[in-house]
Amino acid sequence: MTPPAPGDPPQGHLLTLVPTPIGHLDDITLRALAVLRSADVVAAEDTRRSRILLDRHAIATPLVRLDAHTIAARGPAILARHRHVAYVTDAGTPGISDPGAELARLAIGLGVRVEALPGPTAFVPALVLSGLPVHRFAFEGFLPRKGRERRARLAAIAERDHATALYESAVRLPATLADLAEACGPERPAAVARELSKRFETVERGSLAGLGETFAAAPARGEIVVVVGPASGGGGDARAAAAGAGRAGTGHEGDAGADPRVGTLEPDAAEALARAGAAEGLWGRDLRAALEAAGVDRDAAYRLAVRHGRRAGSGPKPDPEADTDDG
Ligand code: SAM
Repeated sequence: MTPPAPGDPPQGHLLTLVPTPIGHLDDITLRALAVLRSADVVAAEDTRRSRILLDRHAIATPLVRLDAHTIAARGPAILARHRHVAYVTDAGTPGISDPGAELARLAIGLGVRVEALPGPTAFVPALVLSGLPVHRFAFEGFLPRKGRERRARLAAIAERDHATALYESAVRLPATLADLAEACGPERPAAVARELSKRFETVERGSLAGLGETFAAAPARGEIVVVVGPASGGGGDARAAAAGAGRAGTGHEGDAGADPRVGTLEPDAAEALARAGAAEGLWGRDLRAALEAAGVDRDAAYRLAVRHGRRAGSGPKPDPEADTDDG
């Protein structure tokens, strides 16, 4: 082993990447708290934001700023000065679509030992809540905003035979759903998970075209993960992909999404899905679209949407064909 050059961090230094909540402040592990408490310094992407978390847990470890713009310039000195640096980003797992990966690479290159604690990250609950088959999946992070690279990434999502999770801002969501619908076809099943683990968490499930309509009519707010279902091998995108979604909802997720012969759900499963959708506040056109995306054929989806409509006792059944803003 070559001896460390002058200025290299001394042996024995440690960088711990510490996941922090993506919404609910209680979503932090005991080990994460212990590391934040015992480290020599907490380096944070945004010290104001991390101060709130540290204060909530009465942690008095010194806090320094280390963001995407300062890692290259300030990272080596911070890693050299402190034997144990804990690194936190704005939310979730450092290294997932944030500057944590750059800091980890820097530390590894400098010979600093790096450990990454398991913890919250936004795409995992989004995948699970999508109801789509996610026994295999790809994570795209943020798509490039325009140009050839964006088109190439959209084409890759379109061809993929497994689910894709991607991050998007609320303001760019309608444009991205429109681009995804163009690339993957309007009927590709998808889900939009919003404000996960926060007070106004919602998950909308449906076809890319249906979700596009929904969010064009009523722009979303907050933080968003989009999950796109897999391309099917021949049974029609919505049906083959959603066969797995239906099973996920009934506790039987397996490899069904890969089986193009599974076209529609069993009547009981469709009924259960309609009930679950209605319980989540879906009704009218949205309930029908979600059922169709899950593999229920059009007529049955219409009948189920009429039957389950609004929650019992809260007004007239809506017309599932009606093109209303709130349905
Ligand atoms: N490191 C984070 C992680 O582990 O998920 C991701 C950081 S990235 C800069 C921020 C993006 O993550 C947001 O724009 C949004 O797409 C997604 N995100 C973060 N928190 C979320 C939440 N509570 N609900 C939905 N999406 C969220």
